[in-house]
Amino acid sequence: MPGPRVGDSGGSTLFRWEILIPTQRYVFTVDSGRLEEYNRQGELSFHRFSRYQGLKADHPVHGMIAWPNTVLLSGPVTVVVDPGLVMQGEPLPAALAERGLSPGDVDLVVNTHAHMDHVQANVYFPDIPIVVHEAEFGGSPARARTGFGERARLLSGDEGEIAPGLRFLRTPGHSEGSICLVAETDRGRLVIAGDTVGPLPSYFASMELPAGFPGADRLLQSWRRIRELDPAVLIPGHNPPMRAGISG
Ligand SMILES: [Zn+2]
Repeated sequence: MPGPRVGDSGGSTLFRWEILIPTQRYVFTVDSGRLEEYNRQGELSFHRFSRYQGLKADHPVHGMIAWPNTVLLSGPVTVVVDPGLVMQGEPLPAALAERGLSPGDVDLVVNTHAHMDHVQANVYFPDIPIVVHEAEFGGSPARARTGFGERARLLSGDEGEIAPGLRFLRTPGHSEGSICLVAETDRGRLVIAGDTVGPLPSYFASMELPAGFPGADRLLQSWRRIRELDPAVLIPGHNPPMRAGISG
């Protein structure tokens, strides 16, 4: 079923959401040419993240591929958040096609931040604005255009509106210009947090980060802002959606 198009929402600013591609990771090492894979069936993304952190010291040749939660928002506009990676099989265009959509049916792409795993598949959307915070580029439009071309629509400030019913909050910590998206749904408030919330779900649940964690103070400040929003659903970049009760 095609999602609603601009003007089809009857004046409502509510959004529906679904995850087009769930987050996932692949971890491997190579020792003297011998490949070892660390991808057990049924694991969640953060299990592999933890294992990856643990094996790096003993395996100088190591790698990880991470795909973020790629989210489709349907409402006053149709939005793809964090298109993810380009790879064989083209999973993102296929996930859209499965829903009767093509990239041309999407009005906006939003990147929660400009890291490669979130932005590489922007290339599937050559004709629409790519929304990203200018602080990802040191506030330099010229730098943004280098990576994003003329269609970068740069956000500025601490919060604001991206489209009717779709707001952003700047939540630095993981990166300088990381944002959270805030939308209302018929089941309450949705917050898409990107990598602002992570890497382990327990960190956000306990509001504690390990000693020396990069950007910890700013992350905790951003987490407090997210909790103040009291979301019914919170979608982190690399963990499954968290449901009501997250704000304790
Ligand atoms: Zn990421």
